[in-house]
Amino acid sequence: MALRPDEFYAHARTAADGERRLPLARMTGWDVSPFEPDGLRVAPMRPRVLPEPARHGEDPADCAACRDRDEGVWLDDRRRLTRIPGVGVPLVLMLYPRDHYDLADLPDELAAELGVLTTHIARHVQALPHISRAHVYRIGDGGAHLHIWFFARPEGQAQLYGSWMPVWDDLLPEYPADVAEEDTAIVADALVTSYGGRRSADGELPSA
Ligand SMILES: [Zn+2]
Repeated sequence: MALRPDEFYAHARTAADGERRLPLARMTGWDVSPFEPDGLRVAPMRPRVLPEPARHGEDPADCAACRDRDEGVWLDDRRRLTRIPGVGVPLVLMLYPRDHYDLADLPDELAAELGVLTTHIARHVQALPHISRAHVYRIGDGGAHLHIWFFARPEGQAQLYGSWMPVWDDLLPEYPADVAEEDTAIVADALVTSYGGRRSADGELPSA
């Protein structure tokens, strides 16, 4: 049986020092870590917070993802894709269902479609010149409305391998927006061809 919140906190404290600081993560010793261990210290463990604070958009009436349901660089009748501006890696895209669902709430039919669509998006991102990999993330702790991240890793920048990439993204200077917009258009066009949908909310749905 999973540890209760108080048991989990007590368990974590067994590894922490008198200031409730855990030892440095093994990840900081990885060759791809953006931080050198010297001088780093871990933030003190905070006690549990119960009940947990609500995420953004728990109520669809207040959900920004629902409000913006018609916005995107690519849309079909049930999903939309947007570009996240101001990032350091070459491209960050976000895929949403247009209706208000979290991952665990998705009906099987939509979940199956989402799997195929995720595959197509990753394929088209990876087909861009000078992009080696599309990382795909669903976290879900900040927003209640399902949103799936696609992070493009630049070719040859092997330090950006793996799960530190979102941190490297935050450290890097902003990638040129005009280039990211052009790459986004390439991905969106490829998606219309390979999957269907359209480039904007005003467009015509292809008669598939
Ligand atoms: Zn929503």
